[in-house]
Amino acid sequence: MFKKVIAGFIAALSILFLVACGANKNTNHPSEKPVVTVTTSFLYDMVDQLAGDYVKRELIIPAGEDPHLYVAKAGDLKKLQEADLVLYHGLHFEGKMVDALEQGGVAVSKDFKKSDIGTMDEDGESVVDPHFWFDITPYKSAVQVASEELQKLIPDKQSAISKNTKDYLAELDRLDAWNKEQLAAVPQNSRYLVTPHDAFNYFARAYGFTLYAPQGVSTDSEVANSDMIETVNLIIEHNIKAIFTESTTNPERMEKLQEAVAAKGSQVEVVTGEGKELFSDSLADTSAFSIFHI
Ligand SMILES: [Zn+2]
Repeated sequence: MFKKVIAGFIAALSILFLVACGANKNTNHPSEKPVVTVTTSFLYDMVDQLAGDYVKRELIIPAGEDPHLYVAKAGDLKKLQEADLVLYHGLHFEGKMVDALEQGGVAVSKDFKKSDIGTMDEDGESVVDPHFWFDITPYKSAVQVASEELQKLIPDKQSAISKNTKDYLAELDRLDAWNKEQLAAVPQNSRYLVTPHDAFNYFARAYGFTLYAPQGVSTDSEVANSDMIETVNLIIEHNIKAIFTESTTNPERMEKLQEAVAAKGSQVEVVTGEGKELFSDSLADTSAFSIFHI
């Protein structure tokens, strides 16, 4: 019953959204800044970098909430209806809002190469992995798409947005170089990353890490006991010293892994808590940004 109600709500949302987007481009707020509604904290930041002075931004999924599981609320409908532009990730990242978003929004992943988005599961099947922000190449493609859409939305600010885009892409390149420099300090045989859900394939590919995650690329699935046991064995086998929690998932699973490792006579640290956990599916709240400022 509950599922049916949700499905009905999403269907209604899709239709209203379609009508709104078809009818209201640039006509809602003739004397105000155009409204850009985005799904995630990543895109909220991206739009700020590119056109922060020229648009009003609306965010659907708050920082720290899990986008895989997020279900649109009534207030989100208003944000979608009133938007002059809607930007979302795609690749089924916003798994519960796909229908509504596909009908009127622009997916920033639309220009990705097929070879950039696939990952293999343990059965050798190719699965679409949405966590592209850990690899600068697809992230830059997403920035270009957002930039083009913003330039179309505000043609008289085209040259300013274009300059912001150039500056931002250069900053991303500097950040990537800084990442490589920092990660070079980690010895090759220690480059293992154990996380709750499988969000770091792009990171692993870009920076040469091996990953283990008891849960798949979405958090929308149960964790099999066999996957937990396998991860415990891998932690012991590779003498992994630390495993990580995420800001968007329950830390309990990693504590259970730690207990299971201890039960086999080994030790592993759980890196957790504010400012220490991994920001896999959301940026940090802006109040925490100063800690990470480079
Ligand atoms: Zn995820």
